[in-house]
Amino acid sequence: MADLTAALHRLPTPRCAYLYDTDVLRARAGQLRAAVPPRTTLLYAVKANGHPDVVRTMAQQCDGLEVASGGELALAVTAGADRIVFGGPAKTDTELTAALKAGALLNVESPHELRRLAALGANTDICLRVNRAEGSLTGSHTMTGTPTPFGIDETQLPSVLADIPPGLRVIGFHLHAVSNNLDGPAHAAFLTDAIDWSLKTAFSYDIPLRVVNAGGGLGVDYLTDASIDLTPLSSVQVPDGVELILEPGRWLAADAGWYATEVLDLKTTHGRTFAVLRGGTHHFRLPAAWGYSHPFQIIPIDEWPHPYPRLQVTDTPVDAVGELCTPRDVLTRNQHVPRLRTGDLLVFPRAGAYGWDISHHDFLRHDPPTFLTLP
Ligand SMILES: *Cc1c(COP(=O)(O)O)cnc(C)c1O
Repeated sequence: MADLTAALHRLPTPRCAYLYDTDVLRARAGQLRAAVPPRTTLLYAVKANGHPDVVRTMAQQCDGLEVASGGELALAVTAGADRIVFGGPAKTDTELTAALKAGALLNVESPHELRRLAALGANTDICLRVNRAEGSLTGSHTMTGTPTPFGIDETQLPSVLADIPPGLRVIGFHLHAVSNNLDGPAHAAFLTDAIDWSLKTAFSYDIPLRVVNAGGGLGVDYLTDASIDLTPLSSVQVPDGVELILEPGRWLAADAGWYATEVLDLKTTHGRTFAVLRGGTHHFRLPAAWGYSHPFQIIPIDEWPHPYPRLQVTDTPVDAVGELCTPRDVLTRNQHVPRLRTGDLLVFPRAGAYGWDISHHDFLRHDPPTFLTLP
């Protein structure tokens, strides 16, 4: 926090920045590596944060990168990733060709995609992404056991497997199922179940199973500083000859990013106090997208170089709102502040995943934040 505060002080006013800390990324990757069972491959899901410094750090700290577009693939190649896994339901021929050239392992999402891949002359190992009949996990954004555009419906798997085009060899399954799961024992049970199901399915269809990709979904709790308990994961049994791939984004990157922005105005209307920020949901859309209130910390700024009075509120709840012309531009509702002044900074921790990358930057055409990478 000291480095962060110093870096923020050096910014031009009005201050507005994303800060990423690569030491935190390294620490998170190390913790996860220590928690997973033998024969687990750790990939970082680039979509959580595609900042080149983040991607480069994770390419070094993890075994590789998981990508979901041609743009992410290019980032992963530039970052020098040893392994690249490419998923996503809408791959274009250009993307498929680039993925083959980069030696990426493709998670194929439909029989149509299989035929398109074969028509490109592919001669490669692949995994099939499957939407299983039962989704055993809770969390947000459930993707399997329910109608979604992701993967092949389990009931259609027999006909798909009976008709794999020449040149393509199925070596495993991709079973990413959920986002932001906070239940460690449930996640361990999900991994075990994914392995069991894959072994059984591979045996039935005579597939030489080498890969079980259980996706991402390890959660962080934005309302506290808790994360999913990883301890239960170590007891998952990965059979000899099989590689368990995990590809988390949020758990690795969330704690490595802060969004910080200056209070431009303070006002009370109809009994509610608003801190109006130089920034907002066009930089940090996550709380608006997921419908929660993201807690902030205050960094007091002592200088006040202006001729007019500094505004201040004390001992009161405030809503932290942005600079957009919409009442939905809200980052935080009703957080109690001991004291808050115009010119002070609000810092939103846990903004390193699905922060800038999912936000609608061009709405209203305000200046982007400054991006700083520590150390
Ligand atoms: C989004 C995604 C991930 C990463 O999910 P997190 O919730 O950030 O861990 C991994 N794999 C696939 C296929 C994804 O779509």
